[in-house]
Amino acid sequence: MKKVIIIRYAEIHLKGKNRGFFEHVFSVNLERAMRGIRHELHRTSGRYLLVNFEEEKIEEICLRLQRVFGVHSYSVGLITGNSLDEMFAAAQEVSPSSGTFKIDTHRADKRYPLTSMQISAEIGGRLLSKRPNLKVDVHTPEHTVHLDVRENGTALAFGTFEKGAGGIPVGSSGKGLLLISGGIDSPVAGYMMAKRGMSVEFLHFHSYPYTNDSAKEKVKELAKLLSKYTLTGKLLTINVAHIQEEIHKKCAGELNVTLLRRFMFRLAQTIAEENGLQCLITGESLGQVASQTIEGMTSSNAVVSLPVLRPLVGFDKDEIISIAKKIGTFETSVLPFEDCCTVFLPEFPATRPKLAFIEEEEQKLDVPSLIMEALQTKEEFLI
Ligand code: ATP
Ligand code: MG
Repeated sequence: MKKVIIIRYAEIHLKGKNRGFFEHVFSVNLERAMRGIRHELHRTSGRYLLVNFEEEKIEEICLRLQRVFGVHSYSVGLITGNSLDEMFAAAQEVSPSSGTFKIDTHRADKRYPLTSMQISAEIGGRLLSKRPNLKVDVHTPEHTVHLDVRENGTALAFGTFEKGAGGIPVGSSGKGLLLISGGIDSPVAGYMMAKRGMSVEFLHFHSYPYTNDSAKEKVKELAKLLSKYTLTGKLLTINVAHIQEEIHKKCAGELNVTLLRRFMFRLAQTIAEENGLQCLITGESLGQVASQTIEGMTSSNAVVSLPVLRPLVGFDKDEIISIAKKIGTFETSVLPFEDCCTVFLPEFPATRPKLAFIEEEEQKLDVPSLIMEALQTKEEFLI
């Protein structure tokens, strides 16, 4: 008898012919999540079993498991032989000492001499005689002891189902570039896309010397926290200080943010294409600030051909904050820092900039060489 973690996956079964691919990506991700912890992972009829792991690390293992997208639920239990004595011993280990209970047996091995009902009755009877404070209730039991008689002569016993992260395995829904700022929203946007199976890499714009290194360190930390969900990731940074100076010097003040965002999108598209990424991801939410109006979004979209995914577009700030807290990025996001967007911030940014006016103002700038020059400042960090 030894410890086992039974891992059930979500939604993968919906993917028909792609099932093999999804299962492959899922198992690679499980292996990545367990990196550094001794274990064995086996796939068996619609589930994975984690065995021979370092039992003293079970809490850490469960914590990591809870962040793997595609995990629908998991159970910590025991794997043992399938004789009645062995199953009873395992059932005892996962049973409560008092309260109401039932035994729920599933029998994959149809040649087993007893039916599921007979196994439940036999093991249940033995438990009752050992534990006087237990009572059977087959309709609304407080505890259910699950027994699973498998085809290879082993059986599983477990008590509860723990909820997994849901979603689909990262790496099975394409690749995107997250524009990550250091604020609360963009990390949550990255998490949302990873949850739907997208691999995410990170791009951050800074304005050194107007912004300092601690802003960059903060973004590195956020990318690291997110990589617990994305399981891999690369952070690229680009300096946009000179672009901001030029905009500030030559263009209408109320368009500062709008114009900067168009540069960010152009740069992001170049970086995405260089890295084989298929879309841009931002943390914008409709109406949250002056630049996040439909006109603002239209103006930034106009300079790129890649799709721009905005998973938070319909979220309220408090909804975003509660996800940030849940995924562990909030505390880092609220550390004080200067974002490049706060440098040269106009007093009254345009909320409904007209595309014709934007383009007219932009003509005052040498867009291609500013882009070229900014790309030279690119730095790469492996998370
Ligand atoms: P966040 O909380 O993500 O900083 P925000 O509410 O502060 O968002 P904005 O500053 O308008 O909103 O930024 C909108 C989006 O633009 C961000 O969610 C992010 O995707 C992108 N963005 C903003 N600043 C940067 C930056 N310095 N580097 C990379 N992307 C950025
Ligand atoms: Mg911000």
